[in-house]
Amino acid sequence: MNINFEEIEADESFRDRISTVNKEGKRIWVYPKKPKGTWYNRRKIVSYFLLFLLFASPYIKFRGEPLFMFNVIERKFVIFFKVFWPQDFYIFAIAAVLGVVFVIFFTIIFGRLFCGWVCPQTIFMEMLFRRVEYWIEGDWTYQKKLDAQKWDKEKIIKRGGKHVVFWFISFIISNTFLAYIIGSDELWKIITSPIGTHIGGLTVIIIFTYVFYGVFAFMREQVCTTICPYGRLQGVLLDRNTMVVAYDHKRGEQRAKFKKDEKRQTKGFGDCIDCKQCVHVCPTGIDIRNGTQLECINCTACIDACDHIMEGISKPKGLIRFVSENSIVDGSKFMWTRRVKAYTALLIGLLITLIILLVTRKDFETTILRQRGSTFQITGEKKISNIYEINLTNKTIKDFNIELKTDCKECRIKLAVKKLRLKKSEHLKERFIIEMPLQKIYEPKKIIYIEVYGNGILIDEVKTKFIGPML
Ligand code: SF4
Ligand code: SF4
Repeated sequence: MNINFEEIEADESFRDRISTVNKEGKRIWVYPKKPKGTWYNRRKIVSYFLLFLLFASPYIKFRGEPLFMFNVIERKFVIFFKVFWPQDFYIFAIAAVLGVVFVIFFTIIFGRLFCGWVCPQTIFMEMLFRRVEYWIEGDWTYQKKLDAQKWDKEKIIKRGGKHVVFWFISFIISNTFLAYIIGSDELWKIITSPIGTHIGGLTVIIIFTYVFYGVFAFMREQVCTTICPYGRLQGVLLDRNTMVVAYDHKRGEQRAKFKKDEKRQTKGFGDCIDCKQCVHVCPTGIDIRNGTQLECINCTACIDACDHIMEGISKPKGLIRFVSENSIVDGSKFMWTRRVKAYTALLIGLLITLIILLVTRKDFETTILRQRGSTFQITGEKKISNIYEINLTNKTIKDFNIELKTDCKECRIKLAVKKLRLKKSEHLKERFIIEMPLQKIYEPKKIIYIEVYGNGILIDEVKTKFIGPML
């Protein structure tokens, strides 16, 4: 028997290197075939909804606050119209831990579904940039042809046009991301004011535009297969119970080319006709028939491609489907393993903690401190005065007129300004003085309470000290 070692080497090469790298270590450019089918249609609906949410969120406002904003410069975060400040950092910490546990839990059960269906990288790449590419250059075979041909008029127009559109989409994405950071109003100011007044902002936008352009025009699937740390985690998170996009090797093997009227079963052939359509549509360039691989982003394009073939040869759909390895081997259903149970308990615990923290979160954050380094002063009217500094954060979406009162009957509060106005989602820092007649001082350190009223309603109370002379 003649053994074709070259063929064996080619088949087994997925064990040695990722699909987009050749023997010499050079990049293999992936030209995925345009996907179509039920799963792709579902994915389009999910993607369009997420794209709408992503582009519209900074502009959807309620009482002046956007749906989402992550202003790291002013340390102000808005989530579902609710404003969070650095004082709420503990809530973010819990939410971050919850996010990580959720991702782990989700991955254990559903594999890398997030990557193919929710991740912005995939959605931008497959639903925006790739579709523009198909629209301008045609399907994969035309793209290959265009790549191989010399730089004639057609290639210059198509390639040039594609990259101009790519750059423009990257520019819009860059602006959108900036709107998430500085807010849509600030972004609008940058857009509408003369360039000279916002050189810094424009530079940031241009830098990020080129980063996005580089990622989507050139890096592409390399982000998912070699850069993304989440992708690298798959090896430890997935097990044989995890639902993944998988090839039913029991049903598909032994693969053999399709021949009309051939009795495949009697020859020991499976349902896979080795048409390689599942490979052609794969955006990461893998052959799913080699088993679960780290490059697979669970985009389900190969399911559609194979279902289409199965229909064509009158076989049941689902040779490639969303299924666990255990289910393929012995038909078993999803099992609540100890690992899954432990993560579920942890997730529920964290979720309850987060809800409690959110419900009990104070709408105002007040600190009142005696001016650093200052001591008491004696005024001409035989009064003792202390200087204080108030820091007041308004986490609500309402403006307030602030009034300060104290439980100390003999004390009088004197503000440095006529009126204290605390605007919605803003921070106020002001100095004020408390005076007390000298004859009323009986102790060098008196504990007093300062009551903070907003629009006439008590919103906070702070304990502090009033310092006087030793008697
Ligand atoms: S599309 Fe289906 S039949 Fe064709 S090679 Fe892939 S698994 Fe086999
Ligand atoms: S193997 Fe299938 S699901 Fe995985 S990335 Fe390729 S086409 Fe998508």
